[in-house]
Amino acid sequence: MKRNGKKIVIVGGGIAGLSAAVYALKCGYEVEVLEMHDMAGGLAMSWHRGSYTFETCLHWLIGSKPGGEFNEVWKELVDLDTLTFVNPHEFVRIETEDGDSLRVYTNADMLEAELLRRAPDDIAAIEDFIHAIRTLGKFRLLDPSGGLADNWLNMLRDIPVLPLLMKLGKMSGKEYGARFADPLLRGFFSTGDMGKLTAIAMVLSLAWMNEKDAGYCIGGSQALIRLFEEKIRELGGAIRFDARVERIVVEHNCAIGVLLKGGEAIPADWVISAADGHATIYDMLEGQYVDETTRKIYAESETFASYLQVSLGIARDLRDQPPMLTRVLGSPVSVDPETEHTHVGFRFFHFDPTFAPTGKTAVTSILPTRNYRYWENLRSQEPQSYRAEKARVADSVIHVLEGHLPGIREAIEVTDVSTPATVIRYTGNWKGSQEGWLMPPGGGIKPFPNTLPNLDRFFLIGQWIMPGGGLPSGPMTARPAIKAICKRDHLPFDVQPEIHRLEPAEV
Ligand SMILES: Cc1cc2nc3c(=O)[nH]c(=O)nc-3n(C[C@H](O)[C@H](O)[C@H](O)COP(=O)(O)OP(=O)(O)OC[C@H]3O[C@@H](n4cnc5c(N)ncnc54)[C@H](O)[C@@H]3O)c2cc1C
Repeated sequence: MKRNGKKIVIVGGGIAGLSAAVYALKCGYEVEVLEMHDMAGGLAMSWHRGSYTFETCLHWLIGSKPGGEFNEVWKELVDLDTLTFVNPHEFVRIETEDGDSLRVYTNADMLEAELLRRAPDDIAAIEDFIHAIRTLGKFRLLDPSGGLADNWLNMLRDIPVLPLLMKLGKMSGKEYGARFADPLLRGFFSTGDMGKLTAIAMVLSLAWMNEKDAGYCIGGSQALIRLFEEKIRELGGAIRFDARVERIVVEHNCAIGVLLKGGEAIPADWVISAADGHATIYDMLEGQYVDETTRKIYAESETFASYLQVSLGIARDLRDQPPMLTRVLGSPVSVDPETEHTHVGFRFFHFDPTFAPTGKTAVTSILPTRNYRYWENLRSQEPQSYRAEKARVADSVIHVLEGHLPGIREAIEVTDVSTPATVIRYTGNWKGSQEGWLMPPGGGIKPFPNTLPNLDRFFLIGQWIMPGGGLPSGPMTARPAIKAICKRDHLPFDVQPEIHRLEPAEV
């Protein structure tokens, strides 16, 4: 690769930072990614405990379908075809303690039949919902780095779905759920943060699942991250671990490099922060470049909640279980002094053979909370109580699981609990948020500004400028930043897609 003599320093080795690195390397820049943790991925993370691997991030990856539209964006960066995707036909099963249950299928025909069987009185709302899933499968995301010239074809294709998008975009999940009389169906749309998001979020996700374009890749999110790391190395880029950026160095309102914890200065022609937005703006840049737009975003927009994750290594083959299960409880589980849940979800990773030895299953449960301060304070000030509280929550979650699988406690051989304090420590995300900003009704699908007023040679990327977050926010925000940098440097943004190079397996 011919280098152009200019260097880009990227703060943060999550999916956004890694995406920017590949784009920049392909455009001829020297690239150094600085990651504070000892491995890449940020929120796209899993960890090993004994013979089990516990995934936190990946439920579905938009763009998993070969030939699909977002697939082409991933393929500009890595050879996605080397990953193996699975598309479970059941998305989630929701069940009450007295045995009532609703199966949410990923296939629209199966979902329609199941919903009509369960809730025939909701026929009008069900037909409307299924129509939306089928219609939105044809929706083409616009390229935020492109103008009219790059987007006109997708805009033209989107015209038939625009009225539906606009209608759903104005409604919250809770409002959408209220159209159904069936309590489980209603709860599916309105529980937790899902109820606050625009209804587009869930309907679009189901639409992409129906198209088999939102699969799960074997190995979880780290399998994807490893592809990026390999690509960066292959293109001659550098990722430095245990490299925490404390300050972005600015001279005459121009970013000229970064200062690491420990005092090392790293000069650069351009600085991109793919780290937490709040820490970048208010700590690394000391709040020097905050205008009314930025102030308002950080003062008024709502973030996704943080979460505890209870992970269980279970010495039992649980392939007869759905991939995801939500238990609706008569009395709530208490998470912390401000948080309790009547809906507790489980993921049975029996579909990923890399996560547990044969005959055993990795199981996780995510418990959202906004009370991140409680967990941070407990961890730093009362470590014994912190451990005791984690054990108490794990015990409650196991108790809920026993309601579904009597006697399962005896088969649990590994229990692991992470908290919002863990999320903050390992990823630096503000308030321990799991995906950045909520995508509220009426907000549209558009990113926040990727520059700061009066600060030159600097870009922000990642989930903190793309409400709704998710792994696709990585390439979607990295691409416009590198494209703009190329334009300023009078260089072509010429990114060739990856060609699938795997030899056919020998028979
Ligand atoms: C429970 C859960 C489930 C999810 N499910 C899905 C899903 O199914 N599908 C999907 O697409 N998305 C999902 N997501 C969302 C997705 O994981 C995130 O939106 C995405 O990974 C964010 O990527 P990012 O690069 O913007 O930020 P991050 O992943 O937060 O990366 C930021 C990086 O910057 C580093 N950093 C921070 N500060 C510094 C500093 N000062 N110096 C150096 N490095 C620093 C951090 O260590 C981190 O590695 C889920 C997330 C969670 C938590």
